[in-house]
Amino acid sequence: MSGPNPSNCSAGGVQLLPVAAAAKAREPINVLIVGVGGQGVIMVSKALASLAQSKGFEVKQSEVHGMAKRGGTVFSHVRFGPQVWSPTIPKGEADILVALEWAEGLRWLPFLKPDSGIFICDTKRIVPPFACLDRHPGALLRYSRETPAEVKAHVVEGYAIDATRIAEELGNVRAANVVLIGALSMSLDFSAEDWEQALSEFVPKKTIAVNLEAFRLGRRWVERARTAPPDAQPAETPAPAYRPYKVRLEITPEWCKSCDICVKLCPERCLRLNAERTVELTDAAKCTGCRLCEWLCPDFAIRVHLDAAEAPGVVAAAEGIRP
Ligand code: SF4
Ligand code: SF4
Repeated sequence: MSGPNPSNCSAGGVQLLPVAAAAKAREPINVLIVGVGGQGVIMVSKALASLAQSKGFEVKQSEVHGMAKRGGTVFSHVRFGPQVWSPTIPKGEADILVALEWAEGLRWLPFLKPDSGIFICDTKRIVPPFACLDRHPGALLRYSRETPAEVKAHVVEGYAIDATRIAEELGNVRAANVVLIGALSMSLDFSAEDWEQALSEFVPKKTIAVNLEAFRLGRRWVERARTAPPDAQPAETPAPAYRPYKVRLEITPEWCKSCDICVKLCPERCLRLNAERTVELTDAAKCTGCRLCEWLCPDFAIRVHLDAAEAPGVVAAAEGIRP
């Protein structure tokens, strides 16, 4: 989902995005960042706040953490400008909403400025456990069914980016939040170099290279969405549809912190901690591919792949992956 920016305005002959104009008008710029625990909402917020502060803006930041584990809502308000009185963005006053999870993005839409707000959202869907109506393959979920096209009708400018897949293709799924930072950077007039400098201070040292690449891909995605003709727009994630599949569990033992959450909550009781205290699949035949373990693992140590299958049915297998 993307669209031209009808609210672009100019000052002194230079094209400025609405947020830059807001700063000139001595209004604070309001960026709301939302997602669920474990996705890196706070890192996005801190990188932005630090960058704005380094440029001499007054910055106010407030954050609410949900569950420390994956699944709980996390949101952060970042406000910066010549002067900022309150750390909280009122409803309908966010210049930009950055959502690291699809349903969270939709839930916070009323906070966007209705006439100029920019919506940047990962199409990643993290379905909370209570949304699973039953555990059979293809079962309905009590979860948002809106498509990117439907959401576009409600925002002035929107980008629904498959940031998680982009990060996965780069070899580090945790860099999805940085893909979105790249997208965000296209709507704020800090230079790419300044963003990269700020990012390098907030990501683990050994992941700087992959995160900078993720940042550049996010920028390129938005650039293409803004300039490409309709038939050459970046691909969006289609709404999930049921098809026969085989389940493959990808376990990264080095990332498993032995917290036992997946073992306790797997509805089929087919996971356990082995002698090394890392998780393993005990009975592949029982695994339905429900993804609860993937959604709940705070450390991204399990990925559930649903590979296309010729015949209906579920066949599970596990593989240990070394990063
Ligand atoms: S191992 Fe994971 S995907 Fe398989 S049934 Fe258990 S929670 Fe669901
Ligand atoms: S795989 Fe994740 S949820 Fe399961 S025990 Fe390891 S860290 Fe905990």
